[in-house]
Amino acid sequence: MGKKETIRKQSPPPTRQGINNHYPTPPPLPVKAPNDGRKVLLLKNGSTTTANNCASTTAMDLWDRLFDGGYRADVTIKTDDGGIIYAHASVLGMASPVLRGMLKSAKGYGQKKSISIHGVHQDAVRVFTRFLYSSRYENEEMKEFVVPLLVMSHAYNVPSLKRVCEEQLEHGLLNLENVVDIFQLSLLCNAPRLTLMSHRMILKNFKAVVATEGWRSMRNSHPGLEKELLESMIEDENNQREKIRKSKERKIYLELFEAMEALVHICRDGCRTIGPHDKDFTQNQAPCKYRACKGLELLVRHFAGCKLRVPGGCIHCKRMWQLLELHSRLCADSNACRVPLCRNFKEKIKKQSKKDEMKWKLLVKKILGTKRIGGNVSFIVSSNSNSLELAT
Ligand SMILES: [Zn+2]
Ligand SMILES: [Zn+2]
Ligand SMILES: [Zn+2]
Repeated sequence: MGKKETIRKQSPPPTRQGINNHYPTPPPLPVKAPNDGRKVLLLKNGSTTTANNCASTTAMDLWDRLFDGGYRADVTIKTDDGGIIYAHASVLGMASPVLRGMLKSAKGYGQKKSISIHGVHQDAVRVFTRFLYSSRYENEEMKEFVVPLLVMSHAYNVPSLKRVCEEQLEHGLLNLENVVDIFQLSLLCNAPRLTLMSHRMILKNFKAVVATEGWRSMRNSHPGLEKELLESMIEDENNQREKIRKSKERKIYLELFEAMEALVHICRDGCRTIGPHDKDFTQNQAPCKYRACKGLELLVRHFAGCKLRVPGGCIHCKRMWQLLELHSRLCADSNACRVPLCRNFKEKIKKQSKKDEMKWKLLVKKILGTKRIGGNVSFIVSSNSNSLELAT
């Protein structure tokens, strides 16, 4: 196994990067990461390396050969399924403080020591041990054993392998089948980023995940965790609903805001077919920038001609009355205002009940809030005022 990776020799001399390369290099990112100009090669195992570190590749090949050949191996690692892996105490002890401790107290004959790794398939233990030697792995092996490798990296305190497992999971190995296991593991292994990723995936694909074997076994072994996940699912759904409700509400207030702008614009400048009597607005046929103008134009036309032009009459007139009253409540200068009934409503407002006042104040606040502008906003401002531009 192993040592199939070869890198074409490149001319630049080894650098610090090369010297430090016995630490595992992270797997490639989905988007090519910026580098400092050096050519980046992709190794067969999926890790990247800079082009000028052929020396360290040779070194890694050597470590791989040492593991494969077991030259002067002084430790045997036994697994539950009968596997025996030969290794070197000095390498294991340097790579993992936990293994170092185990080797100290391990039984053995003469120079040979024997330790056991329980609960993990021998092939996974082999991949783990190879990583301790050369920081290398094959993609297929990582795919198959990422879960036990993550467990071992945590149990034997090998942070570099843990990081590799986390990155591999994040960039493709996390799937609907293993996400519940990974979620539980990430909690046990103190991998908060992985917890977040898997939690997010569970919530996003809840129906499919609940049907998996992983979910069923979690339900049996950790019913409390299942309950927590269900609760967070409900909370997430509520948040989504609240978000939709808020966005709908905001849309309504925004439409009212735009209607207020268009009303002032029609009554002051005139637009298309409608406008003040003393103005020749038909000359001004540049495309109108007020989105609400067209709808309002129809409403004003209706209002002018409707027989039931009383509050509570037809629904269109009722709407027009509401808009006129709303305008009056937002209008800063009724004396200069050209919107019909603006002053009349101002007079009426003086005599309103406390309850009505609160209701209107709240509405005005919400409408102004949609544009995030506060204070005394006048809708009788020139159309080039920034505060009333139809910004999104
Ligand atoms: Zn217009
Ligand atoms: Zn009407
Ligand atoms: Zn007004």
